[in-house]
Amino acid sequence: MILPIKRRRLEQIPGYMHHTESFGTVDGPGLRYVFFLQGCPLRCLYCHNPDALAAGGQRTTAGEAAAQATGLRNFIQGATFSGGEPLCQPEFVEATALLLREQGIPSAIDTAGAPDLAKARPAIDAAELLLLDIKAAEHEMAVRLTGQGNEAALATLDYCEQTKKPVWLRHVLLPGWTLEQTQLEKLAALLLPYTCIQLVELLPFHKLGEPKWEQLGRPYLLQKTPAVTQAEAAWARGIFAGVGLRVQ
Ligand code: SF4
Repeated sequence: MILPIKRRRLEQIPGYMHHTESFGTVDGPGLRYVFFLQGCPLRCLYCHNPDALAAGGQRTTAGEAAAQATGLRNFIQGATFSGGEPLCQPEFVEATALLLREQGIPSAIDTAGAPDLAKARPAIDAAELLLLDIKAAEHEMAVRLTGQGNEAALATLDYCEQTKKPVWLRHVLLPGWTLEQTQLEKLAALLLPYTCIQLVELLPFHKLGEPKWEQLGRPYLLQKTPAVTQAEAAWARGIFAGVGLRVQ
C-alpha cells in the first residue's frame, strides 16, 4: 500500500516514450503491456528500433503510463519496460512499476544493462523480472557490436544475483559474430554460476529493423549477414542446455 502523498509524487514523475504495445507476446511471460522508452546509449549494429535511440520522445507521466496498463489488467499478465534502454529513465520506471505493483500487475525490465547502476537499483528492485541482454561474452566483441563494452550488463547481472532478482538472460545469435562455438561456450560458462538466471533466451538475428535504418538515411552494416537457420538455432541452444542451463 502506497501512502497517498507518495502516490501523488510517483504519479507525476515524467517519462519519455517512443511507443506502447497493448498485447506484447515476446517481452516476458504471457501477454504484456509494453512501454518502449526513448533513448539508448548503445548503437547495436542490428538494432530494430534505431529511431528510438536519440533522446526525445513523447512526454508522459508514471501515473498516465500505469493507468494505460491497468486499464487492460483483465487481459495481460504483466507490463514490460523496453526501448531504447529503459534504465536510462530509472525514476520513471521505478515509479510506474511501483504503481503497477500496487494494482497487482508485475513488471519486467528489458535492458542491456543499467548505464548507471547506482541510479537504477531502485527501478530494478521495483520490477519482478529482468530481461537482461548480454550482447557478447567478450568485451572486445561487445565494443565492435554495440559501441560499448559489456561491463554494464555484467554489473547488472551481479546485482540481480546479490538481490535474488529473477533474470531471463537474452542473447542475439548473429552469424559471423556471436553465432560461433567458442563465443557460445564462453557465454554459457560465464552464465552457469548465476542462480538468478531462470531462463536463457537465444534470439536469432533478423532484419526487421533494416527499413527503419534506410528511412533514417543511416548505413545498415548487416545487409549481407544471413538470417539464422532453425538448425543453427537448435545447435546453439544445445550448447547452453549441455551445461545445464534452461534455454529456449
Ligand atoms: S540496446 Fe537495444 S535499443 Fe539499444 S541499440 Fe542495442 S538493440 Fe537498439
